Amino acid sequence: MRDMERKGILIVVSGFSGSGKGTLMKELLARYPDTYALSISATTRNPRSGEQEGREYFFKTRKEFEKMIAKGELIEYARYVENYYGTPREYVESKLAEGKDVILEIEIQGALKVREAFPDTLLLFVTPPTAEELRSRLVGRGTETMDVIRSRMRRACEEAEGMDRYDYLIINDNLEQCVMRMHAIIQGEHDRISRNREFMEQIRAELVSMKGED
Ligand code: 5GP
Repeated sequence: MRDMERKGILIVVSGFSGSGKGTLMKELLARYPDTYALSISATTRNPRSGEQEGREYFFKTRKEFEKMIAKGELIEYARYVENYYGTPREYVESKLAEGKDVILEIEIQGALKVREAFPDTLLLFVTPPTAEELRSRLVGRGTETMDVIRSRMRRACEEAEGMDRYDYLIINDNLEQCVMRMHAIIQGEHDRISRNREFMEQIRAELVSMKGED
């Protein structure tokens, strides 16, 4: 293998709240800690029980969040069911520069903004196999009131309209297989012609320079 830096890919993973994408991400990172970096978002929503500052999210007041927006510290942000969520810029840019594939687990408005700013972004959409499964996961989680569950189901309806803006659909029927499929998709993406311009330029130049040798 020639000594050419492998560039990190920016990956957005979206999916209905309750699609299991959080568990999927945790598993992917646990298996391939040297390959992936997961961006931690800032949010104005309250921590759920068991969530820790700086692990699931950076929990902010609305005022602090608005300050981050004003200072340009977020790559994108969106409102989702009454709260702000946004992606801090610094971590994403430094990990990509290190050659890591950086994953943003964000909703669709943010996903589309990221793709506008970074057209090479790979967009993956995670869905449970059925809508019924989605509802029972949200209820079973036991962390939300019925009102919040209803608004998340309504939001899922809207988000379902946007699924075809994504590059790949990941149907989360089996965690193990899903992790393998997701890893294969992302790693396959590294071989795409459009992501290997530098290599192609180099080998073309080498071939041209060899023409005169025989
Ligand atoms: P939750 O409250 O369930 O943790 O997240 C609600 C939604 O916000 C999920 O769809 C999640 O992917 C999305 N989200 C989390 N962080 C961000 C972010 O930084 N930006 C955007 N646009 N969405 C986010």
